Amino acid sequence: MTQTPQTETRAFDTEVHQLLKLMINALYSNREIFLRELISNASDASDKLRFEALTDESLKGLDQDLAIDVDFDAEAGTLTVRDRGIGMNRAEVIENLGTIARSGTRRFLDSLSGDQQKDARLIGQFGVGFYAAFIVAEEVTVETRRANEPADQAVRWSSMGEGEYRIETIERAEQGTTITLQLREEHRDLLSPWQLKRIIHHYSNHIAFPIRLRQPAEKDEAAAEPEFERVNDSQALWTRPRSEVADEEYKEFYTGLTGDPEAPLSWAHHHVEGSQRYSLLLFLPASAPFDLLINRDEREGVKLYIQRVFIMDAAEQVLPRYLRFMRGVIDSADLPLNISREILQDSPLVKKIRATLVKRSLDLIEKLAEQGGEPWEKFLDAFGSILKEGVIEDFEQRERIAGLLRFASTGNDQAAAVGLDDYIGRMKDDQDHIWYQTAESLQVARNSPHLEAFRKHGVEVLLLTDRIDEWLVGHLRDYKGKTLKSVARGKLELGEAAEPAEDAKKLAGRIKKALGERVGNVQPGARLTESPACVVADEHELSPLMARMMRQAGQEVPEIKPNLEINPEHALLGLMDRLEDGARFDDLASLLLDQALLAEGGELADPAAYVRRVNALLVDSLSGSAVDNSNSGNEENHTDRAAS
Ligand code: ADP
Repeated sequence: MTQTPQTETRAFDTEVHQLLKLMINALYSNREIFLRELISNASDASDKLRFEALTDESLKGLDQDLAIDVDFDAEAGTLTVRDRGIGMNRAEVIENLGTIARSGTRRFLDSLSGDQQKDARLIGQFGVGFYAAFIVAEEVTVETRRANEPADQAVRWSSMGEGEYRIETIERAEQGTTITLQLREEHRDLLSPWQLKRIIHHYSNHIAFPIRLRQPAEKDEAAAEPEFERVNDSQALWTRPRSEVADEEYKEFYTGLTGDPEAPLSWAHHHVEGSQRYSLLLFLPASAPFDLLINRDEREGVKLYIQRVFIMDAAEQVLPRYLRFMRGVIDSADLPLNISREILQDSPLVKKIRATLVKRSLDLIEKLAEQGGEPWEKFLDAFGSILKEGVIEDFEQRERIAGLLRFASTGNDQAAAVGLDDYIGRMKDDQDHIWYQTAESLQVARNSPHLEAFRKHGVEVLLLTDRIDEWLVGHLRDYKGKTLKSVARGKLELGEAAEPAEDAKKLAGRIKKALGERVGNVQPGARLTESPACVVADEHELSPLMARMMRQAGQEVPEIKPNLEINPEHALLGLMDRLEDGARFDDLASLLLDQALLAEGGELADPAAYVRRVNALLVDSLSGSAVDNSNSGNEENHTDRAAS
């Protein structure tokens, strides 16, 4: 046997030295991650032991009780992390703790900018490994024994992190590694059960091995064996086979993950094997956090783990924004631990994970829709409008998402109950289009004059009253071969198309002349049965509602002239037809337009003028009926009622 030196002092790789210095500065504000790194290493070492014990008879039994113990001594200023994992022999210690063998660390070094704040943010997203211990420690001691080495061939490694380390051979009864940090004065506040528990919970709660923390000793038992209490959750739940996890456990896990006390509506749990391996656990919450609609860029929602080590909140990388209400965990076995957001963004592996997440999420929502009832209603209520963004953002899934949307409809009293498939199922034989009406509120929509002809012909109209609906229909031109068409646009043909009578056209021409530049065109049409007039948009122009919303959002919108469709059958129009051109006719034409705009939920350019005209008419007709009982007076009374 060759004699290895018992004790020696060696110099670090220059790169290690460089890294240590940079890290201590840059990570100051992020100091707590050191514990995550040490626990993650301990967990890896335990995993390795487990794996080797599968084939190495001499290790059998050692893999039974693999806990990670976190111990501390506030008075001495020390913190210890102990595992019973695979451990290291002397050569491994030198290789692993004295050089930078890992390319990840090298990349990490290269990406440091020297700007402290920027680096701290960057480093927070990297796994920086063992050396993170030097963020808080003035001296680090590692005692370790490789699982299949004799007890007297254990190793002690120690360093002040200043260019060299000491290494000596020691005796150690157990396999595994004990890392002891002598904390610098200013970091000793970490040495409390409360602090340590918090940090472990935050970063390492789902480590698959028990993490046990030393409990404070009672005064009179100071000499007794220290007690350790498990502080992390159960075995990482998502790593377990689905069949072994009870519903109650999923719910508990969800609450732990999100802080949402309400049980999720449903969840999906999959283990993906093959060219890439990952587990995913997805939850559909029951209600929306208050800022979900506003806060579109939130990163939170899906936690990315790599081999059970929490890496980052990665919702933006793994979920499209229209699914930002989903919650869950992705645990990849293939991504490198020291991955950055930027790398994550471009990773083909992550793109595949993302596609799976979209599919699984839509599966969940579809299943909920099939089951219907209260959970489905809750979902629609909380996330229905967010899901609509998917039609705009995700071309590939457009039809699938559209099929999940629910709208109010003239065929149903409820607020949002009719899906496009329901609608198509009820379409009349000769009906080619899915008709919709957009409006600012359900009440405005239901009472809109545009629906009159549809009612008469028994054609269902979807009532779209979400702010996003105008955009939605801008992107969803058709669904399953049926075009979506606005009841308020272009020429309407329902039933038999009749050419309007010549007098009606003439009257329309007179009204156009009276209104002048205030309108685009004025035409008789088939939309109305009860109202005298309504506003119609051209086939491709901005709808009045959309224009209003854009103006409210501070955008420049070109002036759009409304087109007016008149109902020649209405008494008011009959009356106007008999009136000579003049001030009276002009006033009535103005009223006609203003009323049509108001019925849409629109605003009048000059509301005061409208009120003045209405009042003048009221005075006229009331005094007329009191004083003058001529036929025309009666007729005007009747007309006012019909027009209001
Ligand atoms: P990483 O864990 O990302 O490889 P680290 O700097 O944290 O990088 O650790 C370097 C190496 O040191 C590890 O790959 C592992 O081989 C070894 N190591 C660190 N901690 C332990 C431990 N507790 N038990 C066994 N080996 C360890």
